[in-house]
Amino acid sequence: MNQTSITPSEIIQYLFCPRFIYFEKVLCIPQHEEKSYKAMKGRHLHENKTRMNKEYLRKKLGVVQKYQEQYLTNNLLRGKVDEVLLLEDGTAAPLDYKFAKYKDKVFNTYKTQLACYAWLIEENFNLPVNRGYLVYTRSKSKMVEVELDDAFKQDVKVKADEIVKIIDRNHFPKATRYKKRCMDCTYRNICIQ
Ligand code: SF4
Repeated sequence: MNQTSITPSEIIQYLFCPRFIYFEKVLCIPQHEEKSYKAMKGRHLHENKTRMNKEYLRKKLGVVQKYQEQYLTNNLLRGKVDEVLLLEDGTAAPLDYKFAKYKDKVFNTYKTQLACYAWLIEENFNLPVNRGYLVYTRSKSKMVEVELDDAFKQDVKVKADEIVKIIDRNHFPKATRYKKRCMDCTYRNICIQ
């Protein structure tokens, strides 16, 4: 079994720039989250613990059971899922609350986070996961369904493997292709861009 355990946040950091992982986890240089990264990540629900009503979830989504605050692990990943929904079609789905407004599109970071949770739920609940839900608490708790297809879930697993390779084998990864991200990066003075 692999000893290195990573989080959905680290996968999101990796997608922002793979070298973040190298500088922080291999060289142990702490990063100060940059404005642009923070904007991508969005704010998580801490302030408002209002939950979607179980009856509403049953009628709207066909939820037959829900589990709150599930801390799940597998041999690569660990994470805390706000809610795991068991659905009447025999699948399961993660539901995540965002202390944010819905801006007519789902950020890729949110989608990546849901795909991580899907992977954890599939392995821990032994049920297929093909969608997830986001609740935007600053848009009157608007609920948005997010499709999580196999290719997207597989991509998250590949990224997790790449992160483990960086950490366990001290692999120095390629820089991000988006040079604008380097402009206000914590590591710009030590990084060969
Ligand atoms: S300076 Fe650019 S390439 Fe280097 S870690 Fe920062 S974002 Fe990545």
